[in-house]
Amino acid sequence: MLKSKRNKPTILAVSHCLFNPKVRANRLSQHPGIKDKILKLGKKYNAKIEQLPCPEFLFLGEREPKTYDEYIEIPGFKNSCEKLAEDFISNLGYINECHLIVVGIARSPSCSISYVYDKNNNLKKGDGMFIHCLRKKKSDNIIFLEIDYHQIDISIEKIKAVLGTTF
Ligand code: SF4
Repeated sequence: MLKSKRNKPTILAVSHCLFNPKVRANRLSQHPGIKDKILKLGKKYNAKIEQLPCPEFLFLGEREPKTYDEYIEIPGFKNSCEKLAEDFISNLGYINECHLIVVGIARSPSCSISYVYDKNNNLKKGDGMFIHCLRKKKSDNIIFLEIDYHQIDISIEKIKAVLGTTF
């Protein structure tokens, strides 16, 4: 794994659907080639890759697309995200010994780190619910980035820039 000047390894914790597009909501676009791009990034920068859980599929299974505002109305969904975030952080026991980069998904109600859709289908600034819970558990020592499925190559370049310059 990539070691920084302070000798810490780097972990890329990627949203589940980047490696398993079948968990995406019905009719959302699929990008099977992205898995190879992420694997190449990991190899090039000697970063270990961890796959995050898919909070929506684990809670609802196959489903129709929904907005962030619709998800926060679903009883139990927020608690489920809290639990997944807690489990992820505690299972990654060596978190303080590594540089952790979380890679979310732009505009996802659960995994966005930038904007989400409100009930009128307008974008508003904010994290998806799962990312919000991860930040609450631990935001220091973690860099949050995201893949925009509409701009995959640009998103990959942004992650590369962080991997190449930050550590
Ligand atoms: S963006 Fe997050 S919640 Fe949505 S399909 Fe991907 S992993 Fe699941």
